[in-house]
Amino acid sequence: MKQLLFFLLLSINSFSQQRPNIIYIMSDDHDADAISAYNKQFIKTPNIDRIAKEGMKFNKAFVGNSICSPARATLLTGQHSHKNGVKDNRTKFDSSKTTIAHLLHDAGYQTSIIGKWHLHSYPVGFDYWRVLPGMGQYFDTRMITMNGDTITEKGYSAEALTADAINWLENRDKNKPFAFFFHHKAPHRNFVPALKYLEEYHSKTFPEPATLYTDTTGRVSAWRMQTMNILLDMRLSGDLKIDPAYLKDIPELKPDAEDVATYNAIMKRMSPDQRQRFEEIYAERGKIIRDKKPKGNELMKYKYQWYMQDYLACIASIDESVGVLLNYLDKNNLSNNTAVIYTSDQGFYLGENGWFDKRFAYDVSMGTPLLIKWPGHIKAGSVSNQLVQNIDFAPTIVDIAGGKIPDWMQGISLKTLLTGTKKVLDRKYLYYHYYEYVRDHTVIPHLAVRGEHYKLIYFYTVNEWELYDLKSDPNEQKNLINNMAYAKTVFELKKELINLRNQYDDHEPAGELH
Ligand code: CA
Repeated sequence: MKQLLFFLLLSINSFSQQRPNIIYIMSDDHDADAISAYNKQFIKTPNIDRIAKEGMKFNKAFVGNSICSPARATLLTGQHSHKNGVKDNRTKFDSSKTTIAHLLHDAGYQTSIIGKWHLHSYPVGFDYWRVLPGMGQYFDTRMITMNGDTITEKGYSAEALTADAINWLENRDKNKPFAFFFHHKAPHRNFVPALKYLEEYHSKTFPEPATLYTDTTGRVSAWRMQTMNILLDMRLSGDLKIDPAYLKDIPELKPDAEDVATYNAIMKRMSPDQRQRFEEIYAERGKIIRDKKPKGNELMKYKYQWYMQDYLACIASIDESVGVLLNYLDKNNLSNNTAVIYTSDQGFYLGENGWFDKRFAYDVSMGTPLLIKWPGHIKAGSVSNQLVQNIDFAPTIVDIAGGKIPDWMQGISLKTLLTGTKKVLDRKYLYYHYYEYVRDHTVIPHLAVRGEHYKLIYFYTVNEWELYDLKSDPNEQKNLINNMAYAKTVFELKKELINLRNQYDDHEPAGELH
């Protein structure tokens, strides 16, 4: 009897030894085009690319509501926004809900989350957490610790968060498998890079997207009402591009008191040396504004480059951080038994349509990078073109951990896709619902259904529709809704949209879709 018990314990122990660790890394507003595994035109990200090289790259990964807080609530629950309750960036997540943290804990995992939380309640269910208040700061960021204290972590946020991550990994209970959620602040606006990367990127020039100078003529109301244009809407408070002293002659760039206060609040967190160098670089931009007085497209040309320089320099720190984590796994003999997921909370406009920001159901912002490595389970260098969505992340993680996926999760596990058992998912369409209509960027609410070939979008508060042929028009420039040749396609997609609303139990807006 004793012997049997011994063998039983031994086999339980060896089973737990084999269970994979999971590291989920999510940056904020990191567009796939700013990862060289997806696009080599803008930045080299060798460390993030390593995840693709050793694992699987998803070319068609999407979110269900393209802003920060909703994406985080979806990660925790595997549910679309209307089910998990977080439809916008202001809603508090109901911390009495069962989340992925509880499920992983029940599966015998040790769980932790470090970095951006942005759900207005404290994390619940994690064995360890340390999170940024709101979006935190790029320099000397504040962090909320588990006992509710707010502390300041010196230095650049990506580096401070990485040090926290390594510290947790070092001090974890090494007898248990772990699931670690690492959520970076970068590259969210205001884009304030580490000085070493600003030095490197501020002299680079990047290719302009074909639609950088597009105007809104002939577009639906949502295009005319959005305020996410780099030329018109990216002000000092939004991008810290220009020394306020140089702006008095350029009315459209004139900073208001709030802009200047934001600028000072950010700059004062740097050391005096750093601040001086930052201001020298910003002053070079200001000098161009003062000397050349660029306007219209010429000003857009400059603003686009400055935007890209700062945005990509922030991403350079993320790539460095991923390198530190992967090296830590290598050195500690953990790489072979750890699944590493890299993603963002959604995509981001890098000048397409003249825009920055996200929100729209168009592929740029509905899309998100997704790279997963899991040695021995995922074939190195594999690529999936299946339609996957962020509601799938929670069930996939629970599945990898050997837990039970609850039926209230709305996504599907990608495990069989990852391991190659399955090549095709049983799902032809993805559902999208954006809600937040606020002063920032003023994108009006909409529903969408995305298939392989077509996307139908419904801006329901103004009763306007769009249809795009994603094969012949991948940049979604030609709205086909009034083209009679597509009447049957529109009819079928409306039916799919209604089916998805029923399937996911979304009742807003009430009534029929016309
Ligand atoms: Ca975001």
